[in-house]
Amino acid sequence: MADLQIDNLAKTFTGGFEAVRGISLDVADREAVFLLGPSGAGKTTTLRLVAGLEEAGAGRIMIGGRDVTRWTPRERNLAMVYDKHSLFPHLSVFENLAYPLRIRKMAESEIRRHIAGVAETLQIEKLLERRPNQLSGGQMQRVAIGRALVRDADVFLLDEPISHLDAQLRARMRVEFKRLQREFKATMLYVSHDQLEAMTMADRIVLINKGRIEQIAAPQDLFDRPETLFAATFVGEPPMNVMKAVISHANGCHSLRVGDAYIEVDHDWMQDGEAVKPGGNYVLGLRPQQLCLNPPDAEHPCRVQGKVFAVETLGSRVVFDIEVEGQVIRAMTTLDAALKYPRTIGAPIAFRIDPDFVYLFDADTGRTVRQARFTRQKAARFHA
Ligand code: ATP
Repeated sequence: MADLQIDNLAKTFTGGFEAVRGISLDVADREAVFLLGPSGAGKTTTLRLVAGLEEAGAGRIMIGGRDVTRWTPRERNLAMVYDKHSLFPHLSVFENLAYPLRIRKMAESEIRRHIAGVAETLQIEKLLERRPNQLSGGQMQRVAIGRALVRDADVFLLDEPISHLDAQLRARMRVEFKRLQREFKATMLYVSHDQLEAMTMADRIVLINKGRIEQIAAPQDLFDRPETLFAATFVGEPPMNVMKAVISHANGCHSLRVGDAYIEVDHDWMQDGEAVKPGGNYVLGLRPQQLCLNPPDAEHPCRVQGKVFAVETLGSRVVFDIEVEGQVIRAMTTLDAALKYPRTIGAPIAFRIDPDFVYLFDADTGRTVRQARFTRQKAARFHA
């Protein structure tokens, strides 16, 4: 295995469309890095540039310390797994796995030894004599991964390899992938538009938007400390609530206006991160998980009054859509807690905001000017 370094990579397609605009990132040896972002962000193009399937307009790609930018795909010694598994339909599973080894003129005994090891790990030993059309979707995907693994590649490139599988199989494959990556000590660059996949499988996530990097972070850090409004709203389910922030200053106190409530914030709050100015152009962000529904203290200054707009049950969680002055704010709670709250459309429902849970973004640049400063302990107490 080897590490991968990408330095200021750019790609403009014929016609002038800039799909990748100066991407720099490192994948350490044995690390799983995910390229996450919306459709058209430039994830696949970045992967294809690393694979050598597209020619870079600018920038440099280093694998194991060697500059491979002008090397052919084969010289780069990478293994690629696609969404649509590209197994040869006329060959058995064994011959599909053996194919990349035969190209390398490996001895027959070596080929058998290699395939036996990989087949055992992937639990496909009993399928070796079958043809691809005699396999389920998940089995085919395991064979496709196996064909990449037998190769002893320096870096694995995966482009949405499990996105077409059904939800149950995807969940199993997520766990399996993580196990395989550890077992094979694989350096992995993995493209996904699915945040759940990236959050559960990645060591680090590279969030891409419009051909540029928005943020590189460990999954939990990306959720807790998004550096941009885009990152804050792209990661998290349901997405973060955002609204225009009105910050006022009266009688020596600062407050944030949300609906009919004026939530007092202290000097530290105003100075935390970048100093916040009253009247400035900001966007306020609140995670649905951080709103406390129907708080007991009816006079609490951080209490916002609204009406039930919709209620959605997602297994063990319930999402309340609450209308506040023409805007819908989403709050998420547990199934047990939800039994206490009204569900009739139009019924009054209130929620409480803790200023420590508030994110603030510069409305002009989209950059985060204030991170929420909660701790997990405080969040647990808040919801107790
Ligand atoms: P998805 O998740 O939908 O696959 P992506 O983030 O992988 O999206 P890319 O496939 O990298 O996005 O495409 C980035 C942009 O480049 C898109 O707008 C796409 O239309 C454009 N693009 C990709 N390939 C070409 C090409 N050969 N010629 C012109 N434009 C292209």
